[in-house]
Amino acid sequence: MTENPTVVRFAPSPTGFLHVGNLRTAIINALFAEKTGGRFLLRLDDTDQARSREEYVDGIRRDLAWLGIRVDGEERQSQRTAAYEAAFERLKTAGRVYPCYETAEELDIRRKIQLSRGLPPVYDRAGLKLTDDERAKLEAEGRRPHWRFKLETDSRIAFDDLVQGHVSMDPASLSDPVVRREDGSWLYMLPSVIDDVDMGITHVVRGQDHLTNSAVQLQMFEALGAKPPAFAHLALLSTKSGELSKRLGSAGVEHYKALGVEPLALIAYLARLGTSLPIEPVTDRQALVETFDWSRFNKANALFDEADLTTLNTKILHHLDFADVQDRLPEGMTAEDWLLLRGNVNRLDEIAAVWKIVTGPIAPVIEDVAFIETARAVLDALPWADDIWKRWTGVLKERTGRKGKELFLPLRLALTGEAHGPEMGPLLVRIGREAALERLCVPQ
Ligand code: GLU
Repeated sequence: MTENPTVVRFAPSPTGFLHVGNLRTAIINALFAEKTGGRFLLRLDDTDQARSREEYVDGIRRDLAWLGIRVDGEERQSQRTAAYEAAFERLKTAGRVYPCYETAEELDIRRKIQLSRGLPPVYDRAGLKLTDDERAKLEAEGRRPHWRFKLETDSRIAFDDLVQGHVSMDPASLSDPVVRREDGSWLYMLPSVIDDVDMGITHVVRGQDHLTNSAVQLQMFEALGAKPPAFAHLALLSTKSGELSKRLGSAGVEHYKALGVEPLALIAYLARLGTSLPIEPVTDRQALVETFDWSRFNKANALFDEADLTTLNTKILHHLDFADVQDRLPEGMTAEDWLLLRGNVNRLDEIAAVWKIVTGPIAPVIEDVAFIETARAVLDALPWADDIWKRWTGVLKERTGRKGKELFLPLRLALTGEAHGPEMGPLLVRIGREAALERLCVPQ
């Protein structure tokens, strides 16, 4: 154990189901926590009471469980308002939050004027300039304040991001962010920082779209007298058409399940997408944990291609152990059966059809009647053992002069009804003597 073990958090808002971008953030947080022997917290950003739903909370937990992500603790922002109140009071005393009284319409008009004059639409800090009398007058009119965090604008905000490298921003180009609404409810920015401090978060890993938030939040950490965490801002996902497609933006675990994608395949794909490490069919996630390295992450957007994911899924499936799939296999399938048949499916739900080759009923395809009659008679006369296929085809080769495809294909067609499929030797043993002889019966 290191002195300061890693603590990361995955912080979705339960206002919808997780989409592939969220899943990627969760996976990368989890792999990093595993690599460093740290903890992974699920933080539910449910300050938006109107849009947060329990159904989504359950969905998020279910999705993480499906991915096999171990959650070491769960927190909910809606239960932490006392901590937010206390920190807010401290910031108020320190003059780092101030009340503002503009309506949304007033702010909008001001922004439009600034833009029309070619000025950046930055909040003019009118709220900060109000006298006590002016504030009292506004309150007497029935206005309630919303609250902004006052940015220090003396120097640039700079930090070293684990993915983006050196980041530097001019706070004067940013508006003081609103942290609390008129009705006392919280916006995401400040509670997130208070949580990160209280929960001892060492690394904030999230999408690049939060980069500006991070600059602002760095000042919040400082204002609260806390050491800021390290940041890793992941480049966003894009599709071939350029930006994140609507479909990709809404595709979540249910979508990938319907495509037959295994959790390990989604993890293997998303862990390596947008990195300089190859996307490869790993057989367990440990390989991804071991090779995890921030210096391998690209700054440029990562190109998400569903076809690459499904191809990877098939490759991974062909190497999965019986234990990984056991509870989803048809009744009666053994570990040997899985080894014999797994190479014949592109997705796991195809296994039922392939399993039918063993259990039947199948529709034998018999074109060369005379040959199959001979084959049946030879098989019937041979003692049955594990090497039956080899001995059977050996005798047939000698007796008929056939070899290669001419010898094997009619046998496969008669025994399985298909031109392609699992290796015949072990398959024939699995089909068994009686069923094999029955399938070789030429209909009269
Ligand atoms: N709830 C925020 C989001 O989903 C959290 C961002 C963060 O990781 O701080 O975007």
